[in-house]
Amino acid sequence: MYLLLFVFINISLYECSGVEGLDLKYDYTKYHRMEEIYEWMQDMEEMNPELISSTVYGQTFERKNITLMKLGLKNPEGREKRVIWMDCGIHAREWIAPAFCQWFVKEIVQSYKTSVDLQTMLQNLDFYVTPVINVDGYMYSWTDNSTRRWRKSRSSPPAGSGCYGVDLNRNFNANWGTVGVSFESCSDIYCGTGPGSEPEARAVMDFIGEMSEKVLCFLTIHSAGQLILLPYGHPQIKAPNYEELVSVGEAAAAQMKKLHGMTYRVGTSPQILYPNSGSSRDWARLSGIPFSYTFELRDTGEFSHLLPEEQIQPACEEAYAGALSIISYVHDKSFRNSTVPNGDSSRFSPRAVLVTLLCSCLSVSITVG
Ligand SMILES: [Zn+2]
Repeated sequence: MYLLLFVFINISLYECSGVEGLDLKYDYTKYHRMEEIYEWMQDMEEMNPELISSTVYGQTFERKNITLMKLGLKNPEGREKRVIWMDCGIHAREWIAPAFCQWFVKEIVQSYKTSVDLQTMLQNLDFYVTPVINVDGYMYSWTDNSTRRWRKSRSSPPAGSGCYGVDLNRNFNANWGTVGVSFESCSDIYCGTGPGSEPEARAVMDFIGEMSEKVLCFLTIHSAGQLILLPYGHPQIKAPNYEELVSVGEAAAAQMKKLHGMTYRVGTSPQILYPNSGSSRDWARLSGIPFSYTFELRDTGEFSHLLPEEQIQPACEEAYAGALSIISYVHDKSFRNSTVPNGDSSRFSPRAVLVTLLCSCLSVSITVG
């Protein structure tokens, strides 16, 4: 009798579970350790097999898996799908970023069944979401208070140095080493020994590089500062679709402001932050991905990377609105009123290539000179 009752209760719990059940167990308004995030990824995949699958596409310096979650529905016409990329946690201490990637996945899972728009998008697009790229750095930042503000990866110090780690967002093959970096290994913006010298950056470049023509949009999530940054970090290079990047970014910022009144500024890194090189955002645009943005989430300085957990929900709500605004635009541009996906003319710009080559030559001559 008790056994029957036990079985009955378990079946009932199982049937009532779905995502709602999972939400009860996982608190999206708390920061989570890496082990919990890995477990959460697995749970989400198991509970939503029609929507989510995962791929390990690289390993960190300490040989931890770099894993992405792919969210997408079958295309009813069997058409080839396009890709939206989102990554979080390339800088270890920016804990709100991994929290947002998880929030983003949760929102999609919760809402796609009742949203025709989202279903259409998920039939045309696959969302590739990496909750944490810099797994080693993220785990290290959880060690204790003295490591909480760690930014870089955890690769071994170069010969003669005692300083670990590379700024992974200075290590991509995009005007590498030219501006806004340090060649001093103890610096927080140490760019490594060469473009893609770090396994984490290389994993992203290899994985996306193979399919860049399918990728419509690249979103990389950071904090803090409340900014939407667009290519390029190098002040002398302008994206061929700069105006469109600005207007799409501003539309996103407007959606974000509607929720909690927070202002997010839009522009290139040199315009509203500082010049830099070797960022994943710039690399994505140079690879031909037409829309590429860095989100710098809350706040503007009060707590910075130590954003209190009370702010996770509002920060993620506004970030979700902003991301969805960009993704919707990109989707509609490719799939509405057109049977040929992506008629974008900005994928290849001889001028951008020329300018990039020129800058590379200049930087080489500066370095050797
Ligand atoms: Zn960052």
